Amino acid sequence: MKLILDSVIKTYGGHRALNGLQLDLLDARCLTLIGPSGGGKSTTLRLIAGLEKASSGRILVNDSPVPKNESELRSYRKSIGVVFQSYNLFPHLDALTNIALPLEKVHGVAKPESFERAHALLKQFKLEQHGRKKPSELSGGQNQRVAIARSLAHNPKLILFDEPTSALDPEMSAQILDVIEELIQDGKDCVIVTHQMGFAKRASDYAAFISGGKVAESGRSQELFTSP
Ligand code: ADP
Ligand code: ADP
Repeated sequence: MKLILDSVIKTYGGHRALNGLQLDLLDARCLTLIGPSGGGKSTTLRLIAGLEKASSGRILVNDSPVPKNESELRSYRKSIGVVFQSYNLFPHLDALTNIALPLEKVHGVAKPESFERAHALLKQFKLEQHGRKKPSELSGGQNQRVAIARSLAHNPKLILFDEPTSALDPEMSAQILDVIEELIQDGKDCVIVTHQMGFAKRASDYAAFISGGKVAESGRSQELFTSP
């Protein structure tokens, strides 16, 4: 992916969450965003996702600006997948329907095909026995796999992850990171907010250290994470 954030400012009621953030990536497969809590990582991810609008500045994904008007935003959001720390699954729907319903209602895929794709994705993520279970009947790691499956259902090229392992114990966390690594190997691009430095070094080709609403440092992960 090509990703440019140019002088991006985002204010919340007078407070600058992002304060002239600058990032210029010409050809990245996986970018990790790291840095202290409150530094602006999630805000950056939400702006790239088109879930919120920048107060000023420019964001370009593969040479196209993240759109500002609602109808263009809707189609832009269809080209990406987003995975959150807290899964954001519908609690009253089973795993299968959590994947199939957005595919049908948001992406306009016919219902039978939506469920077929949901079945195939659950199988891919070794959850085929759990399709009829609701989030409360699944473990955190299983729910996150359902959420990742849902983010892939409409076949986006770019997937955005906001601390996808923060709510998980180390074992489940490792499982999820393996899943994400496989996605990257399968040719998906990703941007991931994570505290997992080992993963960042191993799986991402670029990293940006965000602090005080700015990119304090960025570069190739291998170099950035090599201690002097
Ligand atoms: P990080 O992901 O690095 O922890 P965030 O992007 O979540 O940082 O937050 C950056 C700053 O913006 C913090 O000071 C945070 O309190 C503030 N902030 C983030 N989201 C909101 C919001 N919706 N309303 C008000 N302030 C927010
Ligand atoms: P609605 O009334 O909301 O359109 P339906 O009564 O048609 O839903 O379906 C009820 C449930 O059956 C759905 O929530 C879903 O879990 C399941 N379902 C519907 N279509 C399929 C399908 N093609 N394959 C598997 N399960 C399906």
